[in-house]
Amino acid sequence: MENSYDMIVIGGGPAGMSAAIYAMRSGLSMLMLEKTGIYGGQVLNTYEVDNYPGLPGISGFDLCMKMKEHVDKMGVLVQTGTVQKIIDQGNLKLVCTEKANYVTKTVVIASGAKHAKLGVTGEEEYAGMGVSYCATCDGAFFKGLSVAVVGGGDVAVEDAIFLARTCEKVYLIHRRDELRAARSLQEALFACDNVELVWDSTVSEIGGDDDMVQYVRLKNVKSGDETKLSVNGVFVAVGIIPETEAYKGLIELDEKGYIVAKEDCATSMEGVFAAGDLRTKALRQIVTAAADGANAVTSAEKYLASLR
Ligand SMILES: Cc1cc2nc3c(=O)[nH]c(=O)nc-3n(C[C@H](O)[C@H](O)[C@H](O)COP(=O)(O)OP(=O)(O)OC[C@H]3O[C@@H](n4cnc5c(N)ncnc54)[C@H](O)[C@@H]3O)c2cc1C
Repeated sequence: MENSYDMIVIGGGPAGMSAAIYAMRSGLSMLMLEKTGIYGGQVLNTYEVDNYPGLPGISGFDLCMKMKEHVDKMGVLVQTGTVQKIIDQGNLKLVCTEKANYVTKTVVIASGAKHAKLGVTGEEEYAGMGVSYCATCDGAFFKGLSVAVVGGGDVAVEDAIFLARTCEKVYLIHRRDELRAARSLQEALFACDNVELVWDSTVSEIGGDDDMVQYVRLKNVKSGDETKLSVNGVFVAVGIIPETEAYKGLIELDEKGYIVAKEDCATSMEGVFAAGDLRTKALRQIVTAAADGANAVTSAEKYLASLR
């Protein structure tokens, strides 16, 4: 049957690429569907990756290119398309994109996550006019200017350190009085003399003129006091939202929208596996996403054997 496979992998990030490599090595007929047409997922937006074994200090882009080279070398078939739904037909699944439908025996969902938003006045209005969700993509536009980074985890701290290299002043705005980021990152941040931490504060408004952000309004969560901070840019790094909208009501999700799956990556739908940032797990990183890709294919192979 045309467009019919043993496995379809949804997403071309680290989890999807790892799954594709394992599937090809296992001799499965497979297709990878990636909505952007570019491999790498969130890693493409990472300036430097310093915790992937064997490749210390590699840029996110270079790591993606290395993974892509490996995927290409294995002869993985890739098509551009956004998966909109999966239809369960028992031993066969129909995977539907905006362009075509594909028949498959197993699915590895590895569609990762996207940036969470602040949800405050001005955020939508100034998106691309000073509001950004990617410091490595947009940081260069703010050379010599003042910016705010919002968040307290690894990504927020990495963004602040990255921006401190070129911006005149970086304010890191965090709603608590301590950071969640890794100790080594915090040490690097505290060594930047142009970074100022604004503790116990949330952004209540982003404002500016017709062209560009000019300020953020802050609210101190302890005192309730409001202040206005002059900045030219706002980098939002307040977490991620799993890309699981398409599977609501079809596959079990937790209250935050993550696909419920353990290390074997099996989901509530037989023959469908979840790998990477979108599944319930303690640590969302490149190395754990890649590990999931391998585990998902191993589980899928056992499932395929049970069909014979
Ligand atoms: C700024 C930043 C810095 C980071 N730094 C590090 C770091 O230093 N070290 C580290 O280990 N981790 C880091 N991370 C986390 C790491 O990038 C993620 O854990 C990892 O990328 C997760 O991989 P994934 O394959 O699960 O998902 P993703 O990387 O999110 O990839 C998912 C892919 O699926 C595609 N997709 C989405 N929806 C669909 C659909 N419906 N149809 C088809 N395709 C779809 C997307 O386009 C994307 O290519 C960082 C993340 C960010 C944002």
